[in-house]
Amino acid sequence: MSKLVITDLNVKGKKVLVRVDFNVPIKGGVITDDNRIVQALPTIKYVVDNGGKAILFSHLGRIKTEEDKAKNTLKPVAKRLEELVGKPVTFVPETRGEALENAINQMKDGDIVMFENTRFEDLNGKKESGNDPELGKYWASLGDVFVNDAFGTAHRAHASNSGISANIEKTAAGFLMQKEVEFIGGAVDNPKHPFVAILGGAKVSDKISVIENLLKKADKIMICGAMAYTFFKAQGLEVGESKCELDFVDYAKDMLAKANGKIVLPVDVVEAKPDPLKVAENFFGAIDEAPTKVVDVKHIDKDWQGLDCGPETIKLFAKELEGAKTVVWNGPAGVFEVEKFAVGTKAICETLAGLKEKGAITIIGGGDSAAAAISMGYQDKFSHISTGGGASLEYLEGKVLPGVAAITDK
Ligand code: AMP
Repeated sequence: MSKLVITDLNVKGKKVLVRVDFNVPIKGGVITDDNRIVQALPTIKYVVDNGGKAILFSHLGRIKTEEDKAKNTLKPVAKRLEELVGKPVTFVPETRGEALENAINQMKDGDIVMFENTRFEDLNGKKESGNDPELGKYWASLGDVFVNDAFGTAHRAHASNSGISANIEKTAAGFLMQKEVEFIGGAVDNPKHPFVAILGGAKVSDKISVIENLLKKADKIMICGAMAYTFFKAQGLEVGESKCELDFVDYAKDMLAKANGKIVLPVDVVEAKPDPLKVAENFFGAIDEAPTKVVDVKHIDKDWQGLDCGPETIKLFAKELEGAKTVVWNGPAGVFEVEKFAVGTKAICETLAGLKEKGAITIIGGGDSAAAAISMGYQDKFSHISTGGGASLEYLEGKVLPGVAAITDK
């Protein structure tokens, strides 16, 4: 990596500002998934074990009103961190001021202080999200060095990442940031070929720049999920009631023309005919109860909707992936939230698990496909599962992420 990483710093005796991504789901004050806290532990432990003073901070949710503060306090996160790290974590329920400064000044080497949700500053005129220069400067003044380990927000220039970096001598990547950048950046900028991308999920419109960028870099792009139906429409096929973006049909035509055979589409789908009244009430319940059948993509029925890839597509995708050395996957192959339409997504997990065994680099670019793979038990079967959906998508689009760009060059 061409940027400084945490192991390049001497943290002993230093006040180390650590931007972590503790944006975890919390229901009724209880953390329902602590994966992001677990992922930040190597960086926190490194600072503590090497005699640094770890000053941690993160955003959590969006703060638009005073009421948002109560449900988005980082207090329960500090408590969970304390259990995971096995050391006291001093939580300061402020984002600036005397109490925070005193807590930092009283730290001994190896201590951990965590301060309140950086986005509480957004109630003061979007100071955090708007990268207010005074705020970045203030936070930078609280430490000696800065470690940015929050890949999930690296695609945004906020006061708590770029703002601090602009006002401190050295910014280094934490271990998680380093891993994300090396895997995703490595795949996009310098992949081992054959390089195959699998793109699924809900919308073509969300992934236009990803498709365009990857058409230049990948040897093949497999398109599945609801996205595929816009491409079927572009080929003049009937898509029935399937999710399809009519405004993007011409775009899909254009992509198919430019792709030179690189785009691989499903050849069969699992379609269902749910009761329309029930769909309005509860989509997942309605499709779960609905009759289903497998059809060739040329024979999608008029009032049915395609919800998963069919068995021939699963075979085709496995064949197309044979021998791949780098695979990046973003977006599920079907409505994986309902078990009977999760078959295509699971089959991709299985194929990629096999490829990893053979030495390929397999990466999931965050979001729903990451959640799907983890919930299906494949969390250890990929080379890397990104923690940042938005950030990894922007990487795949070929954009420079401001949080990464702000890290000091080696
Ligand atoms: P994304 O956030 O773009 O990755 O999209 C994920 C969502 O796409 C999931 O909630 C899936 O249920 C949905 N999805 C995948 N395939 C289909 C499909 N054929 N029809 C409708 N929704 C789908």
